[in-house]
Amino acid sequence: MISGTDHHETKGYVFDIQGLSVHDGPGCRTLIFLNGCTLHCFWCSNPEGICSKPSLMWFSSKCIGCGNCLKGCPHHAVYFENNKPVIDRQICSSCEKHACLDECYTGALRLSGKEMSVTEIINLIQRDRNYWGTGGGLTLTGGEPLLQIDFAEEILRRCHDAYIHTAIETCGHIPWENFQKVLPFLDWIFFDLKQFDNNDHKNGTSGGNALILENARLLSRHFTGRLIFRLPLIPGFNDSEENIAALIQFLHEIDRTEINILPLHHLGREKYRMLGKEYPGIHYLLPSDEQMRKVAFRFKEAGISCYVGSETPF
Ligand code: SF4
Ligand code: SF4
Repeated sequence: MISGTDHHETKGYVFDIQGLSVHDGPGCRTLIFLNGCTLHCFWCSNPEGICSKPSLMWFSSKCIGCGNCLKGCPHHAVYFENNKPVIDRQICSSCEKHACLDECYTGALRLSGKEMSVTEIINLIQRDRNYWGTGGGLTLTGGEPLLQIDFAEEILRRCHDAYIHTAIETCGHIPWENFQKVLPFLDWIFFDLKQFDNNDHKNGTSGGNALILENARLLSRHFTGRLIFRLPLIPGFNDSEENIAALIQFLHEIDRTEINILPLHHLGREKYRMLGKEYPGIHYLLPSDEQMRKVAFRFKEAGISCYVGSETPF
């Protein structure tokens, strides 16, 4: 049973919770997805988590075209086209009360996240803990999990105090001070390295790579837990020989010997539609098994262990 919460305690926005995951750290894990990210990668599979505050999502398959949302929106952000509601996202993005939700009885309208307290999160994790078996733990992901730093720090500290294994999946594009706050409570870090050409990085993610590379260097020196770098492989964006060679050189420089490469997928594209957005990643082809094998071979011949997709030794 979830116990009551102290309303003075730290709260944050969470857009998804998944139990029993086996791909995001050792053993069976609970994944908590925190809202907010400093990057906007064009291939992001969790676009609903990019915004710091929850946004309105519209599920077409559940919509019966009743028009209740049109009448229920005090800001006139909804109009109808072909018997379906269309949402003016500019008006909607600054809405605080989301009155339309109460009018939609089918569940076609939902928010991409909700406010939760640290105690609510810890209670969920403690409940899941009974099902992890041996090993397992918590992985904070997102969005960028260290953007809501006070919230993340307290969750990780309380898990650490309860002897729960902790991991994060980070884009690395956050101030080093945020890392410093959580390092004492972290066992594993998954850290994305996407593109070594700064201009290409900016074009693909909306942010430069200097802060990310500096944080990667600092973590290599100061973090005593397990640090696993990941490359999301996107043909035409970061699979060139130059980029792979630069990544190999960087890993050698910071004395690291393993990388996890993850193939691009388009599984998140429907969510863009639900948010009223275009999915820019659709213009990129998925890498073939042969392309993945070739890149993996490049790392292996450079003395770097390369795990492809979820075929990891953990
Ligand atoms: S979230 Fe707010 S502005 Fe947007 S449709 Fe609902 S009530 Fe209107
Ligand atoms: S209230 Fe819900 S079901 Fe009715 S038109 Fe709006 S989104 Fe569709």
